[in-house]
Amino acid sequence: MSRFFSRELDKLTPYTPGEQPRDAQYIKLNTNESPYPPSPKAIAYAAESAQRLQLYPDPTCKELTQTLAKELGVESDEVLLGNGSDEILFFAFRAFCDSETGAAFPNISYGFYEVFAGLCKTDYTKIPLKEDLTLAVEDYLGLGRTIFIANPNAPTGIALTLDEIEKIVKSNPDRVVVIDEAYVDFGAQSAVPLIKKYDNLLVVQTFSKSRSMAGARLGMGIACSDLIRDLNTIKYSLNPYNINRMTMAAGLGILADTDYTRDCCKKIAENRSYTQSELARLGFSFPDSSANFVFARHPKISGEKIYRRLKEKGVLVRHFDNPLITDYNRITIGTKEQTDALITALSEIMEEEQ
Ligand SMILES: *Cc1c(COP(=O)(O)O)cnc(C)c1O
Repeated sequence: MSRFFSRELDKLTPYTPGEQPRDAQYIKLNTNESPYPPSPKAIAYAAESAQRLQLYPDPTCKELTQTLAKELGVESDEVLLGNGSDEILFFAFRAFCDSETGAAFPNISYGFYEVFAGLCKTDYTKIPLKEDLTLAVEDYLGLGRTIFIANPNAPTGIALTLDEIEKIVKSNPDRVVVIDEAYVDFGAQSAVPLIKKYDNLLVVQTFSKSRSMAGARLGMGIACSDLIRDLNTIKYSLNPYNINRMTMAAGLGILADTDYTRDCCKKIAENRSYTQSELARLGFSFPDSSANFVFARHPKISGEKIYRRLKEKGVLVRHFDNPLITDYNRITIGTKEQTDALITALSEIMEEEQ
């Protein structure tokens, strides 16, 4: 830290992204990307749009917003696009959390919530998950804080039902409840329909995982038009051109090819079953996942050791530097071939370590 860095932020601990090695030597199962390339339409649309890179993009993202709203069954003024859903989450912290509201989220969840709370200087509480890593819905009823919940949760993969989400939203009418649905397309129920009923619900989704577009940075917030207007106030105070021209075009390409996305999600769900049964065969335990990853631990070998030995064998998974979940690794569901390589490497490790 230089002597010029803001004293107000001297306690800020930034987010640590998963490793992104530049060489292709690893089987990469550590950051929940799709193993499949984006739809050919997304690639073609993006390439075509590059011919107009001398021009600023449309700050309202009108065409993509309209197309997306139609797909989600909401109005255009109920959707806002972000530079990844991380940006929407930041807008939400900035817009809906202050010293009076405070924030709350599970103690084991997406690490960025705590970082954004720090950046926005918001007082926050981390609510413990239960022993079995499920979320105790009753802890969130009438909480009176701005609430952030990932559904399915990361890194556990466990989903709440729509009824449970509704209970939480309904019991906190004077605070915004943010439901982060980064993984919803892999097997959970979306809360989007509830935005018509509750003016305090913000649903956040992303093109990064199920739509194979992590590299393009595109996410969205879906809420009643008043909340979207608030988020726009933050956006236009920070970066009106937050979605670049090529990403906008790629997003339209993906939405023109919904069969492709559905097909990818189906393949990943099938391979998730296969991965879970193979892991169980090797003695791993894990909560049943509704996402594109499995959060697994072995009774005999530490999570850190499994992470390290897998990396030596060319397979990257995610191990978190958090004592509460140190036994676990989060393993992204890849292709069947990638899973087979993972399972072979794990079998070798089991033999070598026992
Ligand atoms: C990946 C992820 C995000 C961020 O996604 P981007 O759209 O790539 O910024 C948000 N929330 C959760 C829970 C995630 O796992």
